[in-house]
Amino acid sequence: MAATWSHEPHKVLKFRPGDRVADIDTDSSPGFSGDRADAETVLAERTERYAELQEMLYANGKSGRDQRSVLLVLQGMDTAGKGGIVKHVVGAGNPMGLRYTGFGVPTEEERSHHYLWRIRKALPPGGHIGVFDRSHYEEVLVVRVHNLVPPDVWEQRYDEINAFERELVDAGTTVVKVAMFVSLDEQKRRLAERLERPDKYWKYNPGDIDERKLWPAYQEAYQAVLDRTSTDYAPWFVVPCDKKWYNRLAVTELLIWALKGLEMTWPPADFDVQAEQKKLAAS
Ligand code: AMP
Ligand code: MG
Repeated sequence: MAATWSHEPHKVLKFRPGDRVADIDTDSSPGFSGDRADAETVLAERTERYAELQEMLYANGKSGRDQRSVLLVLQGMDTAGKGGIVKHVVGAGNPMGLRYTGFGVPTEEERSHHYLWRIRKALPPGGHIGVFDRSHYEEVLVVRVHNLVPPDVWEQRYDEINAFERELVDAGTTVVKVAMFVSLDEQKRRLAERLERPDKYWKYNPGDIDERKLWPAYQEAYQAVLDRTSTDYAPWFVVPCDKKWYNRLAVTELLIWALKGLEMTWPPADFDVQAEQKKLAAS
């Protein structure tokens, strides 16, 4: 039997009060007893399960019987692997039921609105999985680290974000928040790779190097996010990301867990199946 999970990811990765960002072993693979080869075997099988559940969510939304949704929030420093999750994990589903949004520096129009304006516009419709590649949390991460607004402004955003997520959950959205952590060294290797490969230049931004100098301030800002916005209705999951195979496997499991929690079944036929079979045979 392929080595598999000794502890369920939604339990072992869930942020607990008192957990320290500084203590995260970014090269570890919590709860998984296998190696990379085992992970590949398990991932292939679990990706199929995810895709089946994701399609069931979409089918239920389309049939009008269920307007629930799932929102996957990905936060992490550059190169943590957010794009890899979008491409390899979420992207293994049926694109009809997926809604992807990447959040960059706000445009002039976005800046003229409340910071949740662009976030609300990107929320997944019923039956969809929404994925946020960066999110409203940038408002207490990059904004806090770079003093883009005064402390008394970002300070009140934690409570505001909690209230916002409460509203989402009450309206039927399961919110899965994934904080992805790479080490400073691993980030350096990944940035070096981007500079060596013409097919990766598009991911490189000269400003990424300046951000590395602010690593301790980011660690502190991530700690505050976890301490203040991990709630029972929208907890954070802390995922070590130096091993790409591990974070992909872990997020696949978190999505399966969230979808299974919806206790869905396939929508029943709203027509007489036997009558349709007869009609078809005679046609
Ligand atoms: P990337 O995810 O690599 O495409 O980069 C997007 C950039 O936009 C990152 O440097 C983010 O920190 C930045 N960004 C995202 N949201 C905000 C925001 N609300 N204010 C300022 N910068 C932001
Ligand atoms: Mg980037």
